[in-house]
Amino acid sequence: MPRTLVTGGAGFLGSHLCEYLLNQGHEVIAMDNLITGSMDNIAHLHSESFSFIKYDVTHYVYVEGPLDYIMHFASPASPRDYLEFPIQTLKVGSLGTHKTLGLAKEKKAVFLLASTSEVYGDPLLHPQPESYWGNVNPVGPRGVYDEAKRFAEALTMAYHRYHQVETRIVRIFNTYGPRMRPEDGRAIPTFIPQAIRNEPITVFGDGGQTRSFCYVNDLIEGIYRLLISNIHEPVNIGNPQEMSIIELTKKILKLMGSHSEIVFKPLPVDDPKIRQPDITRAREMLDWEPRVDLEEGLRNTIEWFQRKIVRNEA
Ligand code: UDP
Repeated sequence: MPRTLVTGGAGFLGSHLCEYLLNQGHEVIAMDNLITGSMDNIAHLHSESFSFIKYDVTHYVYVEGPLDYIMHFASPASPRDYLEFPIQTLKVGSLGTHKTLGLAKEKKAVFLLASTSEVYGDPLLHPQPESYWGNVNPVGPRGVYDEAKRFAEALTMAYHRYHQVETRIVRIFNTYGPRMRPEDGRAIPTFIPQAIRNEPITVFGDGGQTRSFCYVNDLIEGIYRLLISNIHEPVNIGNPQEMSIIELTKKILKLMGSHSEIVFKPLPVDDPKIRQPDITRAREMLDWEPRVDLEEGLRNTIEWFQRKIVRNEA
């Protein structure tokens, strides 16, 4: 039975990952300091094969016994969260990656870094292949996340080259699904609760900026394939179906039968104008591509938010 540590295990992606790994027969240890994660996300995973440690991985990390895999998913991950926790965001991407890489070296574990499409910043190349070096503003408000993840990638490659640690780097593009926090400020978990409550839908800028949204189950499957591969170079995982934010709001309103009005708010500083993953590498090297279409994924997500908000269940 492989033994796997997931940092950020109580977060949106971390909790889905823990669940997937348990289903694959792993023993899973989730670690999280719960500043943006929540025990509600993992309560249903309780079993002999699953344990949780409340801990901040920017400090020395100790785990008893062997580890086969370490997956570093701890970080605030929405623009609103990393504006609220700028120093913690920088520290978990830098110090947290250092500590968990050190642990991987000690335990001879495979290390997987959750990186991000934010390493491409406001991209000047479209769609974005892994070979693109990006266009990031280091001193802007998003710089705390973008630069932490860029440093984390550099450190991961250094541990691979200098210490021969088996490493993987996944660049995660916009992902959505159940267990996103309604207050995290990201587009989909903001729009759906606004529509449920009959509040206006807040579109930033003119809504012409684009994103490409991947359903969480597809993303986790891609990450798992990367984990068990032998690829050290970064791999984009995301859904290439690109749309403007205004198009997205219209789809959500239609699916929900909502008549909420759309109101326009100022565009956040350095908000990328376009984003779409080039997933050629994932297709060719992992034989992976997303399967859940937007409508199906949104329906599942809407249903989850309705249970959480209206019936206070999820
Ligand atoms: N966005 C929006 N209204 C909101 C939240 C987000 O129009 O209430 C926009 C945001 O400006 C961005 C896009 O939706 O252009 C995706 O934002 P999100 O925070 O989900 O992710 P990221 O900017 O990190 O891709």
